[in-house]
Amino acid sequence: MSKVGRSISILDSHFFSSAYRALSEGRVVEFRPIIKSESGITYDVFGIDAPEERLRYYLDRGFLEIVDEISLPICPVCGEVCLHPLLLCPDCGSMSIEKKELMAHYDCGYLGPVDGFEVLGPGVYKCPKCGKTMRRIGIDYGRPGFGFTCIKCNSIFQVPLIEVECRQGHRNKIQTLEIKKYPVYRASQEVKKFAAIYQVIKELEKRLSSMGLESESFSRLEGASGEMHVAPLYVKFEPAVIVDVVTEDLFDERYLLGVALKAVDIPDVMILLVLPASLESGLEKIFNPEKVRVIRVNDLRGSINQILDEILALVGMKRHEGS
Ligand SMILES: [Zn+2]
Ligand SMILES: [Zn+2]
Ligand SMILES: [Zn+2]
Repeated sequence: MSKVGRSISILDSHFFSSAYRALSEGRVVEFRPIIKSESGITYDVFGIDAPEERLRYYLDRGFLEIVDEISLPICPVCGEVCLHPLLLCPDCGSMSIEKKELMAHYDCGYLGPVDGFEVLGPGVYKCPKCGKTMRRIGIDYGRPGFGFTCIKCNSIFQVPLIEVECRQGHRNKIQTLEIKKYPVYRASQEVKKFAAIYQVIKELEKRLSSMGLESESFSRLEGASGEMHVAPLYVKFEPAVIVDVVTEDLFDERYLLGVALKAVDIPDVMILLVLPASLESGLEKIFNPEKVRVIRVNDLRGSINQILDEILALVGMKRHEGS
């Protein structure tokens, strides 16, 4: 497995186990976009930075839903989201400016940094422009607060010109920036069902791969109707096999109906449906036995060999002893 592949599988496992725990405790789990200077937009998935594409992958499979959107400014030239403001002198465009507390002499109209006025006594100053003494604040002189001075052209101004620069160096005025919307995601109840079977599906995927059988976990397949279906495990063979697992505490009749529909909608596929032994009998009746094979297991994790045997039987292979 590639390094990226491995880190994604760590992320997935972390996502499923953390989401399962949070949802079981009744917590609402939301993922909001964060701007990272190295990687652009990421999402904090229970303490791990995840790229936006991964959240979209979870969304496509029904593990997440979109609950809100956040608008962020992006560079109109390259689409970059990591922007930083530049403060410029409005007169000469220089970036060499300083923030200073300003003072104004009303008599001659001079406005300049406080430290340019000579102090003659407490609250008494000498104007550097006209040389007159300024005594009464509010009458002779005023202190309008902070402003900026340009080191290059000596211009004094209260509001600098603001431009925004991306990491590629494209400079834009605020009004010319584009806006891009990023979704806020929330973990759906559906993720709980898949989280419960995540480890088993991953183990099956690994074991099949060691036998040379390619499979894909949480695969998305388009049915003949155009509807998208999630296959917890999709074994790429002729015929292809979808492994669907239902656990006792997450049993839901609608899910079984979904499996029956999936079997009809996706051509050339067999579904292996693993149900808990404790569930009421007779559920098998809703399925066409030519498309869906139902097996019952007592203990899911202890039944991996049995499930594997069933998969191999469906693809017409037999497991070698000891493998
Ligand atoms: Zn740019
Ligand atoms: Zn200037
Ligand atoms: Zn003056």
